[in-house]
Amino acid sequence: MYDMKSLKAEEFINDEEIKATLEYAEQNKHNRELIEQILEKARPRKTGRGVECAGLSHREASVLLACDIPEMTEKMYDLAREIKEAFYGNRIVMFAPLYLSNYCVNQCVYCPYHMQNKEIPRKKLTQEEIRQEVIALQDMGHKRLAIESGEDPVNNPIEYILECINTIYSIKHKNGAIRRVNVNIAATTVENYKKLHDAGIGTYILFQETYHKESYERLHPAGPKHNYAYHTEAMDRAMEGGIDDVGLGVLFGLDMYKYEFAGLLMHAEHLEAVHGVGPHTISVPRVKRASDIDPTVFDNGIDDDTFAKIIACIRIAVPYTGMIISTRENESCREKVLELGVSQISGGSRTSVGGYAGYTPEERPHDTEQFDVSDQRSLDEVVKWLMDMGHIPSFCTACYREGRTGDRFMALCKVGQIQNCCHPNALMTLQEYLTDHASPETKKVGEALIAKEILNVPDEKRRQRAMDYLDEIKNGGKRDFRF
Ligand code: SAM
Repeated sequence: MYDMKSLKAEEFINDEEIKATLEYAEQNKHNRELIEQILEKARPRKTGRGVECAGLSHREASVLLACDIPEMTEKMYDLAREIKEAFYGNRIVMFAPLYLSNYCVNQCVYCPYHMQNKEIPRKKLTQEEIRQEVIALQDMGHKRLAIESGEDPVNNPIEYILECINTIYSIKHKNGAIRRVNVNIAATTVENYKKLHDAGIGTYILFQETYHKESYERLHPAGPKHNYAYHTEAMDRAMEGGIDDVGLGVLFGLDMYKYEFAGLLMHAEHLEAVHGVGPHTISVPRVKRASDIDPTVFDNGIDDDTFAKIIACIRIAVPYTGMIISTRENESCREKVLELGVSQISGGSRTSVGGYAGYTPEERPHDTEQFDVSDQRSLDEVVKWLMDMGHIPSFCTACYREGRTGDRFMALCKVGQIQNCCHPNALMTLQEYLTDHASPETKKVGEALIAKEILNVPDEKRRQRAMDYLDEIKNGGKRDFRF
């Protein structure tokens, strides 16, 4: 039976409830009156505490996703843009993945790291290699990483992951620093989540891959990841272990997207109901070609328009949750979905183990790559591209370093202080990037953007302080200011 507050996977992600939701959505997909009401409910409202959004239930959001009336889709896109603007403005947070090890004991049929793949060389970074990778990433200008690893208790035990995190945080090279390490590793125990929390991680990310239990078991035929309940209940254990910020995701293409969408929102509702805080981020990867993996064998691939609609509907349903898009997507797809709700993107990414150090921006090792990267531009090119479109690339990591995680971050969103806090933080970290890493052309575009955007900090005192800090970054050699 469906129970949002249950701690059992099959009760909070309940198959019957998802099927009933899809039926309800199908029946109402042309019900204009209901669709208008749903859109109205989700609209940002000015309250005494700032701008607030009600969000939507999985049933309401599923009706929007099912609706195929072009005029209504346009209204959804307009609303998604409005919500994005209200909470995220034109800021886009930048990050890069760092692959630690591709040793894996699982058999995920879509992933080249699966145990039976003999084509791929197995590699695990030593601490010295991590140092080299991190220095290369710092030289590019990255401040936020997502570490990735296969699951292998012998080759990549939790102690190895913790040691890597420690190494990453300890490296200070020129003006560089990695200030936030997000972690994307397999589901683990409460005890191990406590250790990750104590190591100072940012978000714990774990993709569900698919919420459909039977498909899940078929796609993960053996290994620890085969256990659907253990995987699906991981975020509850992570939160029990003290991790406030968790990142959900579905690997689109594996199963029916409408089913996944409902499951994803039910998962978010469950976390909010049980822990008082929803997911910090949602990722929307699509299956890609890789060594030993042909994505066309999965017959649930979604086209770019459907993908954009999913993103807009997620934005409307969970307005306070950040949304991440990786370099799995190409430039034009990324351009389209940025305005519909995406708040974080990776840039200059390498998905191979040891893919950064010792390579020029044009060189790209493929042997241990996890998947084909569609957006192969350098970080500098991505930063300039974002700015040319009027976005502010942000290297900000202030919230979690100021203890604004979980519901404390959500509170900041709700009281509408974002423009006085995130906006100057984004501009100051962008200035650091421009001063330390950017090409002359990117620097020129960026400094003009900062001069214009700093005027949009509403509080006069805060604005003046931010201007002083910007000057100290540019001319005084100072770094790491934050509100
Ligand atoms: N090993 C951890 C786990 O199993 O959750 C996390 C790391 S894995 C490197 C990160 C994610 O990459 C997976 O959760 C999966 O969604 C995604 N992935 C795997 N194979 C992929 C492919 N062929 N195309 C796109 N994404 C893929």
